[in-house]
Amino acid sequence: MITHDASGRSGASAFVGVTALRKSFDGTMALQGVSFDVALGTTVSLLGPSGCGKTTMLRSIAGLETPNAGRIRIGDTVVFDSEGRVNLSPETRQVGMVFQSYAVWPHMTVAENVGFPLKIRRVAAREIEARVADVLALVGLAGLGGRPATNLSGGQQQRVALARAIVHEPRLVLFDEPLSNLDAKLREQMRTELKLLQSRLGFTAIYVTHDQAEALALSDNVVVMNHGLIEGMAPPKELFAHPTTPFVANFLGFDNMFDGKVEWVGAAGNGDAKPALGDGAPLPIGVTVGTDVTLRCFWRGGAAPSVGEPMILAFRSERVTLGLPAGQDDPGTNRCDGNVEACVYVGTYQDYLIQAGPIRVRAVGPGDSTFGQGERVSVSIKPDDCRVFSRKKFPEWRGLGER
Ligand code: ATP
Repeated sequence: MITHDASGRSGASAFVGVTALRKSFDGTMALQGVSFDVALGTTVSLLGPSGCGKTTMLRSIAGLETPNAGRIRIGDTVVFDSEGRVNLSPETRQVGMVFQSYAVWPHMTVAENVGFPLKIRRVAAREIEARVADVLALVGLAGLGGRPATNLSGGQQQRVALARAIVHEPRLVLFDEPLSNLDAKLREQMRTELKLLQSRLGFTAIYVTHDQAEALALSDNVVVMNHGLIEGMAPPKELFAHPTTPFVANFLGFDNMFDGKVEWVGAAGNGDAKPALGDGAPLPIGVTVGTDVTLRCFWRGGAAPSVGEPMILAFRSERVTLGLPAGQDDPGTNRCDGNVEACVYVGTYQDYLIQAGPIRVRAVGPGDSTFGQGERVSVSIKPDDCRVFSRKKFPEWRGLGER
């Protein structure tokens, strides 16, 4: 379990503690005071768009980058502390690292590559042989030790890199986009294998990626970064269902986002009883987007908003239902009609763009759905699938743009 308090100090019980880390490169602030913890035996993903500071964070933990300020602790060892002038060398930090580029040495065999971390630690040759054989079996490369490392496929080379990172039983394994050079199918397979391996061996891991599926699949906790800062930090399911900021929502697939204003709070004037607030209970509100589309949704952000307050409303395209016959929606579902502007067939599903009055809605339909361009179609979205953020809290938010 990650702990992270508002003061920016990380919790004492964690295995890895990163506190108020700052790093700039020639005036570019890559890390602007980042703090997070990683509990023993868990995996934390650092997720975010290109340039948000993920790799700088990872390299700082490995000792390959020297931060300007802050503190990093691994186990009982403070490996970096700007105030205490501590900066341990990478070799003494006892971490394993797997890079995107595999970084497999071409002039060595598979076994020599994997055994190298043991060799530089002066482990006896016989023991190296045994441990290399064990770890090659673990990563599915049994019997390939004698091969030149370059005579392997990309996926196999990445397994060599993984074996080399874990052979000396490091207390922490750092992954820098390790699967992004692999094709989509192999990436999914390796993702599952990596997860299995981590749970079998129980190492603590920090995993850098810009791929949300990878982060959600592999991690106990996900840290979402943006411009050198942490935007959100939570277990995958929590973050996916209840993103804490518009940026996190958009990055995690809330691809319909609209500016709007609160039309009503607690009761729609249509017989809704005004609910008692308290215990963080979701409060029904109506948010008007465009000029006249009012969507019923739930406010979970603490003190009730007032009528007229500007809001950002978000929902996922895959939560939109198209063409449901009238009367078949669940009670309370938002429903309007629109015209199909575009549809793109992607095999198992189809992407739709629907112009519904003043708003343009992205929707995902089944692969065999048959709504054609220009067709009139009903659009349904449940209040529970909408997320709302106060515009006052996020005045700068302008969206991630087309992705
Ligand atoms: P990507 O996913 O593209 O690898 P990232 O989230 O890992 O991106 P970083 O590589 O950590 O981001 O970079 C963060 C910022 O620091 C970027 O603006 C980048 O250009 C800058 N930066 C990183 N390394 C250097 C360097 N050695 N010299 C100058 N600027 C750098």
